[in-house]
Amino acid sequence: MPESTSSDSFQPKPLIVSGAATYPGLDDWRSLPIAQQPSWAATDEYHAATAELSSLPPLVFAGEVDVLRERLAAAARGEAFLLQGGDCAETFDGATADKISARVRTILQMAVVLTYGASLPVIKMGRMAGQFAKPRSSNDETRDGVTLPAYRGDMVNGYDFSPESRRHDPSRLVRAYHTSASTLNLIRAFTQGGFADLRLVHHWNQGFMANPAHSRYESTAREIDRAVKFMEACGADFEALKRVEFFASHEALLLDYERALTRIDSRTGLPYDTSGHFLWIGERTRDLDSAHVDFLSRVRNPIGVKLGPTSTADDALALIDKLDPQREPGRLTFITRMGAGNIREKLPSLVEKVTDSGAQVLWVTDPMHGNTVTSPNGYKTRNFDDVIDEVRGFFEVHNSLGTFPGGLHVEMTGDDVAECLGGADPIDQDAFLEGYESVCDPRLNHMQSLEMAFLVAGALSKS
Ligand code: PEP
Ligand code: MN
Repeated sequence: MPESTSSDSFQPKPLIVSGAATYPGLDDWRSLPIAQQPSWAATDEYHAATAELSSLPPLVFAGEVDVLRERLAAAARGEAFLLQGGDCAETFDGATADKISARVRTILQMAVVLTYGASLPVIKMGRMAGQFAKPRSSNDETRDGVTLPAYRGDMVNGYDFSPESRRHDPSRLVRAYHTSASTLNLIRAFTQGGFADLRLVHHWNQGFMANPAHSRYESTAREIDRAVKFMEACGADFEALKRVEFFASHEALLLDYERALTRIDSRTGLPYDTSGHFLWIGERTRDLDSAHVDFLSRVRNPIGVKLGPTSTADDALALIDKLDPQREPGRLTFITRMGAGNIREKLPSLVEKVTDSGAQVLWVTDPMHGNTVTSPNGYKTRNFDDVIDEVRGFFEVHNSLGTFPGGLHVEMTGDDVAECLGGADPIDQDAFLEGYESVCDPRLNHMQSLEMAFLVAGALSKS
């Protein structure tokens, strides 16, 4: 999205035509099986909301989306590493300057550590500015004998447990758009306006090292410090390093929203889903003949697909044929989320068969969603050690096959919450009583996120 610091920096390209886009096949999904949608179609409110979305300006531009595809192609070749992170579910109330800046800041801090570990550029991407809709395992929730529709994300209904709040409300689609717009505006301002200055980000990381619990990362932190000083001594252009590219992504779950924000780019004549740069298909909506796979096969954005432990190599190959028939570098990312106990057994055959097919996808690990447990005191949580173990398994598998472990997809926040167990300065379940804020899955807090970056940097420097 913003200007790049490299020579092929993003230049504004011709604008996308606004208004409801028509293009062959863009509405075929409407007659296909579709999972996880709200029950609001055919109401006047629904038509008003989708018509309004269709007339609003795009949130991202086609040229930025094309730049991202090039960056992801480099990662698929082993020449860059993707860091994708943010809330499980963004909320409207959570879109405050403090929370957004803390999240961006944490991602930038992690990226500096990973850049050092990988000796490669790190592509920075938020699960931000659109991550407002959630797939659920059950349509309903029952509390004290009262059954109401399950919470499906702020784009659909409210988290409060009351009939009014849990009603599927199409006007929330429009509010999600405006909240995404203001979130993106702040992200663009931060990442272009000096906040991303390498020296500043490095300085923040020294705050992490001030905690004695993190002393085991001392040597890496010192090496980074020396590298920054070395750059300074060599006369590196730190002015240029004040600006970074930062991309927005979310799960493309509500196809009403995605379809209404799809525009035809006047430069290429092709459809782009302008709700975000990168969109992914979740584990529950990736059936080959489903509406989600069909719709996303028709937009130019880079696409991710989550692959859980039941995925077969044939599933992966069929998804490649459908989503990336041209075998276009950067088009397709597989985000594996197998669980720490499964990854070493399940991932090798997938990677092997995809590689043998000649396809070059980007492989990313999501070490969160296969490792969710309930704490003895009843909270949805994850053990930091399990999360790290899945990352290690991911690196081991790719290293042994000679393929590139190309990225990390994490649920994290910049705040000091208590949602995941463990870490060097450990969170225990008693801390959940005060510090648990997520309305969906548990996130790594600020310190746990940085600790993960140090651990992954160690693994990257060996791979
Ligand atoms: C998520 O990313 O929050 C999610 C629901 O993931 P998955 O589709 O992998 O279960
Ligand atoms: Mn989640």
